[in-house]
Amino acid sequence: MRVTYTQNIIIPHVWRDHLAALFKDALKVRLAGAEEGLISDMIACPGLDYCNLANARSLPLAEKIFQRFPDPDRRAEIGKLRLNISGCINACGHHHAADIGILGVNKKGVEHYQISLGGRADEAAAIGRIIGPSFAEDEVPAVIEEVVTLYLENRKTDERFGDHLLRVGLTPFKQAVYGDG
Ligand code: SF4
Repeated sequence: MRVTYTQNIIIPHVWRDHLAALFKDALKVRLAGAEEGLISDMIACPGLDYCNLANARSLPLAEKIFQRFPDPDRRAEIGKLRLNISGCINACGHHHAADIGILGVNKKGVEHYQISLGGRADEAAAIGRIIGPSFAEDEVPAVIEEVVTLYLENRKTDERFGDHLLRVGLTPFKQAVYGDG
């Protein structure tokens, strides 16, 4: 087996005759969801729970964001969208290369999170751009929902998040999150 940088597991060289049984067993232990590349398929670094270098926790925030999108049909409707979380600027969670990147920062001794949009690791590689001031942990899931909702309302058919952002720019997302002021 191989663990990928997207924190998924690849089981190579499975005999075709064994595939159905393997899939059934994976289902039993909840390791066979059709989540690859969806918003639920996040990368989250160990963060403050396990890393001495962290500014903020990553894993509980990843769980809260997951809970914000509980409906598999909605996750499928959103489609391919990479959301990555790093607990500090060392960027082990590759937040800078994600459609939606979340970076843990220390704001006067309190865990906060800076959001960036438009990072990509494909042939149009780009570093995500920070949308504005950071948020407290409890605010982040609603901010992510705002961003996703605006994307769903305005995207063209089959337009991936990164391509949509290139077309419309960062401003509509900033306005949705922070207001016009
Ligand atoms: S990004 Fe920072 S907090 Fe996360 S694992 Fe790396 S060093 Fe630790």
